[in-house]
Amino acid sequence: MAIEGVRPGMGRYEELRAGFNLAVTHRPAAIVEAGSADDVAGAVAAAVRESRPVGVMNTGHGPSLPADDAVLIRTGRLSRVDVDPIRRTARVEAGVRWRAVIAAAARHGLAPLNGTSPDVGAVGYTLGGGVGLLARRYGFAADHVRWMDVVNADGRLRRVDAGHDADLFWALRGAGGNFGVVTAMEIDLFPVATLYGGELCFGPEAGEDALHAYVAWAQTVPETMASSVLLLRYPDDPAVPPRLRGRHVTHVRLAYSDADPAAGEELAGRLRAVGPRLVDTVRPMPYADVGTIHHEPTATPVAAFDRNVLLGELDDDAVDVLAKLAGPDSGAPFLAELRAWGGALSRPPAVPNAVAGRDAAFSLLAIAGPDAAHRVARDQVLDAMAPWSTGGSYPNFSGVEDATAESAGRRFGPDDLARLRRLKDRYDPDGTFRVTFPL
Ligand SMILES: Cc1cc2nc3c(=O)[nH]c(=O)nc-3n(C[C@H](O)[C@H](O)[C@H](O)COP(=O)(O)OP(=O)(O)OC[C@H]3O[C@@H](n4cnc5c(N)ncnc54)[C@H](O)[C@@H]3O)c2cc1C
Repeated sequence: MAIEGVRPGMGRYEELRAGFNLAVTHRPAAIVEAGSADDVAGAVAAAVRESRPVGVMNTGHGPSLPADDAVLIRTGRLSRVDVDPIRRTARVEAGVRWRAVIAAAARHGLAPLNGTSPDVGAVGYTLGGGVGLLARRYGFAADHVRWMDVVNADGRLRRVDAGHDADLFWALRGAGGNFGVVTAMEIDLFPVATLYGGELCFGPEAGEDALHAYVAWAQTVPETMASSVLLLRYPDDPAVPPRLRGRHVTHVRLAYSDADPAAGEELAGRLRAVGPRLVDTVRPMPYADVGTIHHEPTATPVAAFDRNVLLGELDDDAVDVLAKLAGPDSGAPFLAELRAWGGALSRPPAVPNAVAGRDAAFSLLAIAGPDAAHRVARDQVLDAMAPWSTGGSYPNFSGVEDATAESAGRRFGPDDLARLRRLKDRYDPDGTFRVTFPL
């Protein structure tokens, strides 16, 4: 029986093959909008019969390889979220974005381990690790998954957890979509109802001081403080507010999650002391407003070429290098985000998983547009940080240029990568799930 799906030339094909990040163009043989786990199992089985690869897209925020000639499963209709406030868990289907989990959990004074943008898909984010605004306090999102329902290459739906198919459960949490299509997962929720957070934006005259102050500060604050700094020059465009237009801005983003905002205010005050801010939105807020802290634009699709390195402790020399290549006077044609890791991210999870990077103190993510020269400049700053690199990189901040087996050696340690490759041979011997970052 032929695959029932939207084929090239049919209505909605163009709409369904495009996601948020336009860095790759997908030309699938068929697109299946799954409304149930059975739909997913049927699509996988049909793809295997036709010897086609299977790709998965929820939001299209994290593309890797083009899903050409593949069966592309769109998961947006798998949109249920069920919160159990007593057990402090949420059952989350494959097409759910964090926004829905945040809202459902907040009704009970609880919070998930979402990332900075509520528009990112919860399952895709968790499969890659998941470093969000509660991560230094509680760990990776992947550290707090109770079970996953997954359709493997044999077309069977399995529930995997610490006691059933434990190898597969280990691999799924960290190695993304290499092993099957996850149709639902159960995750832990945490008793966080409020944050003291927002951003402090420093103009070009204070940018380098703010960067030095931020890096020193971030290495001393408690695990209840999440933070990052974004280095970005705004376009000289009338649509940009005048105080930011055409200027390089150093955005320090904070999220303090202890219930008492006074301690957060004291910590933020140390950064406010750097000097006047162009924008200062740091305030007490309900956790449900967490997306306002980074306020990433996700309404309009873009072609974003992401790359990252994981870094250890940073000294003044490291900050000087970063400021030279991405700071106010650099003319950098890309944006760079330095994010503080450490805390619970450094500790092993209760149920082991394939997530790497537990030795990192910071991630440095740099994002360029399609222009080749801009991508070269982006790589220069990442390469220049080599003296402080752990040698690792983070799957969720990887981009389409990292979709190579060679770069898998930076996403996983050698022993874990060898184990992942053995499991890939066992669960997906024909490479059905190859439209993803390879192992
Ligand atoms: C604005 C923005 C902010 C972000 N912030 C953070 C952050 O704070 N922390 C962080 O860790 N990451 C962050 N990310 C990265 C994000 O977590 C990854 O890009 C993630 O892969 C997105 O998942 P998605 O489902 O939304 O995207 P999609 O592009 O739909 O999926 C990405 C990939 O995930 C896999 N996948 C998705 N769903 C399934 C499934 N059901 N079964 C099997 N495989 C699946 C597939 O390989 C797919 O190609 C951010 C990205 C953006 C664009």
